[in-house]
Amino acid sequence: MIPKETVDQIVDAAKIEEVVGDFVSLKRKGGSFWACCPFHNEKSPSFHVVPARGIYKCFGCGKAGNAIGFLMDYERLSYTEALKYLADKYHIEVREKEETAEEIAARQKDESLHLVSDFALKFFCGQLSSGEGRAIGYQYFRSRGLLDQTIEEYGLGWAPSGKNAFTEAALKEGYKKEYLVETGLSSQWEDGSVHDRFYERVIFPIHSVSGRVIAFGGRTLKSGDEAKKIGKYVNSKESEIYIKNKALYAIHKAKNEINKQDKAILVEGYLDVLSMHQLGVRNVVASCGTSLTEEQVKLIKRFTDNVTVIYDGDSAGIHATLRAINLILKEGMNVKAVLLPDGEDPDSYAQTHTLEEVKAYIASHEVDFVEFKAQQQLDPIGDDPLQRANLINDVADTIALIPDGVKRAVYVEATARRFRVDEDLLFERIGRTREKLVFEQQRDRRREEREEEHEPARRPSATAVPRKKDPLVNDELLAPSEEELLTFILTDGTESLSFEVDSEFYDPEGSQSVAEFIDTALSGDGIVFSNDAYRRTYDAYFALYDKGLAQDQIVRELMSGEDREVADVTARCSVPKYELTVKNFTSALTAKESWLVIYVPRAILAYHVKRLQQRQEVLTRELSGAGIGRQLEIMAELGKLNSLMKRINVKLGRIRKE
Ligand SMILES: [Zn+2]
Repeated sequence: MIPKETVDQIVDAAKIEEVVGDFVSLKRKGGSFWACCPFHNEKSPSFHVVPARGIYKCFGCGKAGNAIGFLMDYERLSYTEALKYLADKYHIEVREKEETAEEIAARQKDESLHLVSDFALKFFCGQLSSGEGRAIGYQYFRSRGLLDQTIEEYGLGWAPSGKNAFTEAALKEGYKKEYLVETGLSSQWEDGSVHDRFYERVIFPIHSVSGRVIAFGGRTLKSGDEAKKIGKYVNSKESEIYIKNKALYAIHKAKNEINKQDKAILVEGYLDVLSMHQLGVRNVVASCGTSLTEEQVKLIKRFTDNVTVIYDGDSAGIHATLRAINLILKEGMNVKAVLLPDGEDPDSYAQTHTLEEVKAYIASHEVDFVEFKAQQQLDPIGDDPLQRANLINDVADTIALIPDGVKRAVYVEATARRFRVDEDLLFERIGRTREKLVFEQQRDRRREEREEEHEPARRPSATAVPRKKDPLVNDELLAPSEEELLTFILTDGTESLSFEVDSEFYDPEGSQSVAEFIDTALSGDGIVFSNDAYRRTYDAYFALYDKGLAQDQIVRELMSGEDREVADVTARCSVPKYELTVKNFTSALTAKESWLVIYVPRAILAYHVKRLQQRQEVLTRELSGAGIGRQLEIMAELGKLNSLMKRINVKLGRIRKE
């Protein structure tokens, strides 16, 4: 927890154009900046950064927020991580409140493990510039086609052969033995002496999403039996900062490109990633030193729902591809696979082809899993009926993993066409498989719950229980009107509305603010917003409004809060769209006040009409199934709704008075 005062201090210090400018090149135009949007692909800039308001907003895709929001969206940092990033950038000391002694110790330990890892990175990199490291390690990387720039950028290195070089250097620099062992960079022998875990190997550092080095992979250059004896690859052991099945190689370099292209390419090895990145295909990651895990798939899912798997074309590679396909589908993501020409891997292919050729090959050879399985197995099998049945059942079982029913139906259709089988047969098989899956899931969950009962809860659950939604409420119908009202509140909420004496809204007690006027109108009819994010934003606004904060302060608070949805809605709705769209029109009116007087009541009335429509829909649906008595009641209410809507529409000028 970062104390409120510190959050304020950070938000005050953060300059939106500087924070965004670190990642996106901005062009100044008057008092604000423009760029091509980093969140969607576009040729002409619609991404707007407004220093005066401390926000960015894209008129293309609608992304908006302040400095914290930008870091959360673009760098995928958590709220706290974003605040810490800014604190670091603007040299603000963050003292987290109410840390227990245990938490302090854990944080300091984490930091120590990071520092040891940072030192190791420098040490291994440094080895490449002279002696054995230069002659063997550096030469190896060059022989694999890696350029100096790549070697440097990805922190590649060499662990010397002496078995003690790193440990001695680290101890001499004052790093504690305990942390060297904890990170697994050194191992303690039974006699108490400490030695290097990595020696006589080239080193590939592994980074966290935010780019801190957390582990290392070492590859021996020996071959044959000798390599087998010592292990071709050695990885760091797991520690507080490195959880093997949650790390992806090069995710820190690939994440933005994955985000932008809305697609990740998954390969197997370090060199596959490096060669592809070097060529310019930069949305590529690898599971490092483990076969792909559910956690790694979830990490990719933070950036995209689309994954293309490109593993080796040998039987081990194909087996791994099929496994990856299942894991990815299970997370509700879309998966494709590419088979490279015989004997090639992504590394060799990238080293011997141009960027255009690689892109074209992927584009023309990526197939969905149905086609991939068909290609893999039909060719050697031919038309043997039993084998064919096995394959079709296997495809059906894979489809059964997909959580979304509509997607399943689409794949069933494709499969039926591809294998000339009846869709019903496929659905039947899928239905049975899903029953089994659901049963297994429930069993696992029950088991977990039982285990948790015996363990005290370690941390309070962060996810609040979502409010149950009324299934009859049509969010799509109401949300645009709710957004319009929120826009008035968030742009001009504290402006006062003074109506003419002969206006039906005239209030002899004095003028009301825009926010109060809207709130009075809605709460008078017992209306709350149907859209969850809008309702939370509305409630949060009025909580601050009631404290007497100024409009700017309220907006700032809402944008800097932890509820990302509220911050997002606020950023989006606090840029007055009327300034852009109604500018010419409003210039005819003398002041903003005077058009608010017209448009705020209209927006409320329009929202009322929508709610009445909503009620109409519900009643109409009920009508056909209702008994005769109820039918009469419904008809009567529908009649009333009709005349009410007509009256409001007349006020809105939508229909002429009869
Ligand atoms: Zn955009």
